Amino acid sequence: MTEIFCDFDGTLTNKDTLVVLLNRYTSSDWYAIEERALSGEIDERDCLRSELALLSAPDDQLMQTLEEEIRPADGLKELVQLVREENWRMQVLSGGLIRFSGSLWRKWGYGDIPLYANDHDRDDDGSIRVIPAITPRIKNLCNHCKRWHLEEAIKRGSKVVYIGDGLTDFCPAEAAHVRYAKGTLLKYLQENSLDVTPFDSLLEVVEDLRTFKVKG
Ligand SMILES: [Mg+2]
Repeated sequence: MTEIFCDFDGTLTNKDTLVVLLNRYTSSDWYAIEERALSGEIDERDCLRSELALLSAPDDQLMQTLEEEIRPADGLKELVQLVREENWRMQVLSGGLIRFSGSLWRKWGYGDIPLYANDHDRDDDGSIRVIPAITPRIKNLCNHCKRWHLEEAIKRGSKVVYIGDGLTDFCPAEAAHVRYAKGTLLKYLQENSLDVTPFDSLLEVVEDLRTFKVKG
């Protein structure tokens, strides 16, 4: 079987949900945290926890902002259609928060496609506290170990395709048989001499998958 694993923010969406919220509701200080993670000074666990601790607006306000700002990426509809035509399996692996990404995903009508992410709670001062995804961890670098989902698919004998764009995609993309990337993920894979097909729009991924026909 062929299994398609997709990052959510910036890959299946027009914008990154957490970037939108941090830009709207915090000072620009969060970007210094992001830079420390991209340079390897801190890992994604500390990065996400530190960034989200800066957010204290209530969930309904944050969700309203996301509903105004976040749209499905061009080509998402076509990607899902191809997956269904080919009887492939698709899973969405988000490094963000399930109450936000999951809510958008269901609203867009894709609730039958599994989406996994972190959860969150609130500290006494109202700031967001990340509750890491419950899935086991391979390298213990991220709150949500996306790679675990791929390793399970590989154990099932599946051919694994990964589509992503950012820091939490580095580790799972390494494990995939076929990779599509943009943003910092593309740079990382190229720097590490791993086979990757660059893309700007998901429509290009769909076109490539159609001709490639990754039959499982
Ligand atoms: Mg992303």
